[in-house]
Order: sequence, then C-alpha cells, then structure tokens
Amino acid sequence: AGLPARLSAIPAHWAARAPDAPALHEGGRSWTYAQLQHSVESAAQLLRDLQVRAGDRLMVVGENGALQVALIFAAASIDAWIVNVNARLSAREIDTIAEHSGARRLLFLAGASPEAAAHAARRGAAGAVTVDGMGELLAGALNDAAIAEACVPGNEQVAALIYTTGTTGQSKGVMLTHRNLLFIAAVSSTLRGLTRSDRAYGVLPISHVYGLASVALGTLYAGAALYLVPRFSVDGLLSALKDDGLTIVQGVPAMYAKLLQTLGGAGTPLPTRLRFAYAGGSPLAPSLKHEVEKLLGTALHNGYGMTESAPTISQTRLDAPRHDSSVGTPIPGVEVRVVDVAGTDVAPGEAGELWIRGPNVMAGYYREPAMTAATMRDGGWLNTGDMARQDPDGALFIVGRTKELIIRSGFNVYPLEVETALNAHPSVVQSAVVGRTVADGNEDVIAYVELDPRQPASVAQLQAWLAQTLSPYKCPSAIIVMDALPAAATGKILKGQLRQMAQNAR
Ligand code: ATP
Ligand code: MG
Repeated sequence: AGLPARLSAIPAHWAARAPDAPALHEGGRSWTYAQLQHSVESAAQLLRDLQVRAGDRLMVVGENGALQVALIFAAASIDAWIVNVNARLSAREIDTIAEHSGARRLLFLAGASPEAAAHAARRGAAGAVTVDGMGELLAGALNDAAIAEACVPGNEQVAALIYTTGTTGQSKGVMLTHRNLLFIAAVSSTLRGLTRSDRAYGVLPISHVYGLASVALGTLYAGAALYLVPRFSVDGLLSALKDDGLTIVQGVPAMYAKLLQTLGGAGTPLPTRLRFAYAGGSPLAPSLKHEVEKLLGTALHNGYGMTESAPTISQTRLDAPRHDSSVGTPIPGVEVRVVDVAGTDVAPGEAGELWIRGPNVMAGYYREPAMTAATMRDGGWLNTGDMARQDPDGALFIVGRTKELIIRSGFNVYPLEVETALNAHPSVVQSAVVGRTVADGNEDVIAYVELDPRQPASVAQLQAWLAQTLSPYKCPSAIIVMDALPAAATGKILKGQLRQMAQNAR
C-alpha cells in the first residue's frame, strides 16, 4: 500500500523535495538528486530515440556506476524492462541472455568498464550502442515533457528481468515488477532505519537483485547517498570507510572473508562511522560473523533471499537479539511455511522445504512457463527450493538447498553443514561441498577449499578437524585445495562448475 506506480518515482520524489542532497558518488564525482533526475530524463529521451518502447527489454552491459542507476529509472519511466547484465560475464553468457531476453537494444557502458567496451567491440553491428558516462546525459538538453504516469494502471508491470546465479543448474530470467522492487526498497530502507544522512556502499553488482533492490533502490528510497564502486577490493572498502564515512556496508560473506583474510582477525576494531553491516546471498558462517564484528566494531546482520523474491525473505533486526546462525525473521508482509514433500506443514521447529508468499514474489520466469509452474504453488506460494526450520520466536534457519542434498549410503548430507564446519577452521577462507555420483547411484561428498596462505593447513589436518565435529558419513571423501574457488560477479561460489569438476575427476 502506498507504493508508487513506477521505480522512477524514487528520484523524482527526492529531486522535488531535496534537490541538492547527494544521491550518487562514483570515483570521486557526485550527483545530487536533481542531477540524477535530470540524467534520468535525458536517458529516457535517449531510449526513445533508440526506439525502445513500453514492454521492450533493454539490456545494459556494465558494472556499478551512476549511469547504470540512471538507466534503471529511465527504462522504468518509459515502461521498458531493464536487463542489467554484468560485463564480467563471458561472451557466451552475454549472448545467451541477449538472445533469451529478446532485447530490443543492447547498451554497453564502455566508460565504466573495459569488459563492457570489449563486449561492444565484439558484438559490433548487433544493435549495440555504447555510452561513456553520466556526462553525456547531463550535457544533453533537459527534456521537460513530463513522463506520462497515466499509461500504467498499477505497479504490476514488469520492471526488471534478472538472471539467477545458476548455482543449481541453468540460469533463469526472473521477471520482477515495479511493485516487487518498490516493496523491497521500502522494506530495506525501513528495517535498516535509513535516513537522508546515511551513506551506503554500492559494491554489490546492480546486475543482481541484492545490489539492485536492497542496496541501490533501498538507499535511494530513503533519500540517502549511494557510493558506487564497480568491483570489490579490500583496499577500496578500507578507503571508502575512512574517506567517505560510510554508515552502512552491505556485502556477501565472500567479501567479508577477504577483508578478514587481508587484515587478520585480531587487533582493535577499525575506526569507522558504520552503524552496522549486512551480509546476504549465501550462508554466513558464525565463525566469520564473529570475527567480522570484532574487526568492524559493529553488528554484522544476515539476510536471506533469492532473485525470485526481489530478493529479501528474512533478515535479522537491528533491535532484536540475533541467533548466530539464523537468517532472521520474515520481513513484514511476507508469510512463510515449512512443508514436507507432500506440501503439508511440518511440526514447529522441524526442517522442511520453505515456501513464501508476499508482495515480493516474482511475476514468473520469462519464457519458461513450465519452470514457473514447477516453482509456484496454489495460492501464490513460491517454493524457494531451500530447506529451513523456524523457531517459535520466528527466527529462520537455512539447512541447505533441496537440490544440493547428497545421499550417501542412504544417509542425508547437507553440504551447508559440512561447509560450516570447514569454514570454522582458521585456515579456511571459503569452502564448497558438492556431491559426486558414484557407480551404484550413490554419492560421494567432495569438498573444495580456499586456504589462507599465512595459516597453512594440510588436507589431513582438515580431515581430522572435521572428524571432531561431523559423523563419519558426512566427512568428505576428498578435500581439494584451490587457489580461488570459481565465483560469480556477486562473489557467489559457482557450485555448478565444481559439481562438474568433481564428476569429471572420477
Ligand atoms: P539458481 O537459482 O540459478 O540455481 P541461485 O539460487 O544461487 O541460482 P540466487 O537467486 O542468486 O541464485 O540465490 C538464491 C539462493 O541463495 C537461495 O535460494 C539460498 O539457497 C541462497 N541464500 C541466499 N541468502 C542466503 C543466506 N543468508 N544464507 C544461506 N543461504 C542463502
Ligand atoms: Mg535459485
């Protein structure tokens, strides 16, 4: 209730009420809300000139930057669907998305990303347009023809098409509506208690829903300032904390693991203006959480979600006690059920498949009606594909993904439990556990680990460590050390690749 019809209402709102307040920062430059709105209007004109119309998919290949943000609102204002794609994807992945989305136009944000420039050069005449930066938009004449707000009846129109990480298999194009995204923007901003004096770090890729809805839209919804950076680096984060006075950092566990690996766990907390920090997108090991809280001198909150739910389903609350391994309680307006294979609610506190319902649930998978039907249940419930349990106080705990369950000699092994045990070892930076099918239809447990070179450990030591806490059938039959685990631009481990590797290594 009370949400506007389009995402483009966000910059328009603040441009009218706080025109001189800072909206975006990128590489030492900044833009006020009035300038952002001006850029949005110029970008909308550019899109019209490029014949992008209502319902068209506009694919934007880039990395986090002010121009990318302006284009989101511009596309929204003319009812085009934004398809933000990270320039670090491979040529094949970019081509697949261009093809599957049926994009009318591809924009390459060449000024902000050498990879985007390279993709543009490679695609050549294939409908590609390159744009260098916000300067190009601000230099254009302001198009003061008001953007017609009348042509959309509600906010159920699709605003963004976002491709999932592909952890469990093929990546799917998730259709998210203006309402989905505005709802999450409003909830993110409210539950974080954001005000106009907050400064949020925009490092999570806007090409993914966490970076788009929770970080970028959530920050701007509050009229706060967003500090955009194209890529994560420990040095970049440290200087932003020091020089920009960030009050909020939202990241993924892999990012915090790198920070800790670089700075080491001990010592005094960093001097920062942080009110709190957030992790989400993949499991947060309690051991990592504790170390990061000591280092940052503030609470590290956890949030759980998925692309299909724009993304937030639950998060830990600023003012409530936090269980170490909980992903928090469902956000307001979102209902959850924990069910068995027959779709019947399990007894309270027991684990089962998590179903959710609320204003954040996607419109469906684009051009995949069968997959949509397999994921959506009667009554508007979305099957998350994750196994969870819920405490009487509402706190949710993720047990693992249904699809990742390994069946070894008749016993169930949840990779997450093994990963959590591995991650608690001081030399493990990150780990990923996958199943490997063996001849008799049985599966083996295979672990991939990234180790801290300053705290070396042997595979035998890791095995002995696991044997202390896990039953023998849960202990990996092989632990493989890698320099770096394969990761998406979001920092998420690409488990599909590891499963393939494990299978091929047989
Ligand atoms: P695909 O659907 O293509 O296989 P994916 O599910 O990894 O890929 P995303 O939508 O990016 O794509 O990720 C959502 C999933 O990430 C959730 O279903 C859940 O398994 C996991 N996840 C997200 N946040 C958390 C968290 N805080 N703790 C544990 N797991 C999480
Ligand atoms: Mg998924």
